Amino acid sequence: MSTFAAAPPRVLTVAGSDSGGGAGIQADLKAMLALGVHGMSVITAVTAQNSLGVQGYWELPAEAVRAQYRSVVDDIGVQAVKTGMLASVELVETVADLLADAPAPVVVDPVGVSKHGDALLAANAVATLRSRLLPVATLATPNLHEVTQLTGRTVTGEADMLDAAKALRDLGPDWALIKGGHLDGEAADLLLGPDGEAHWYRAPRRDNRHTHGTGCTLASAIAAQLALGDPVPQAVARAKAYVTGAIALGFALGSGIGPVDHFW
Ligand code: PLP
Repeated sequence: MSTFAAAPPRVLTVAGSDSGGGAGIQADLKAMLALGVHGMSVITAVTAQNSLGVQGYWELPAEAVRAQYRSVVDDIGVQAVKTGMLASVELVETVADLLADAPAPVVVDPVGVSKHGDALLAANAVATLRSRLLPVATLATPNLHEVTQLTGRTVTGEADMLDAAKALRDLGPDWALIKGGHLDGEAADLLLGPDGEAHWYRAPRRDNRHTHGTGCTLASAIAAQLALGDPVPQAVARAKAYVTGAIALGFALGSGIGPVDHFW
């Protein structure tokens, strides 16, 4: 007699591959594995990347993105979706069209540039991401640079973060999570919800420089927790605790910035 384990919740990442294994699809799948969900991927672009930065990237054809998505969603199903690097206007539009009737919550990490300053989204695609993808997002998770690009608001303190979060929510996502990790002093992130309720998440700043993949990991961890049934504020709290531990154990690889550690 054979026994079958119950299937874990399924989570889909729509993002770019990082050949160095620290960010993108690779970080997403590691976070999902660590949090107990079944990770699946729609690859949008392939980067040649290491601890020193992104040496190049190549987009997949829109048709390949659509086909991967249909294969996964039509047969296996999803309980949450996360988007990351989308590279071009055409791919942002393609993914927005696919997610317009997504059967599950959608976490949009509006990836613009890497920590090394390498562009992962064409400059002319920011407007498309704003007008097409944000309206289909359950939650958007920009850092301070990205929220400024999307809303035009400059953020230099916590009062500005609240204004920027409101401006971001006006662009469509039900929830806005502004990652204030680049502000001086304490790291404070702000989650603003549909009823206007604000949740602050505070943590002491970590000095570890090996933080490659932090944003991808956070968005994937949130998607995993949503698939496990958490309401958004709790999903964010648990995902932040996961990322904080992963950053604490980030390690040196190559001669530049190493990745966060998913096995802690
Ligand atoms: N590479 C890919 C494919 C990504 O999606 C991202 C971020 O989303 C990065 C690199 C950048 O990672 P980081 O800024 O943490 O170095």
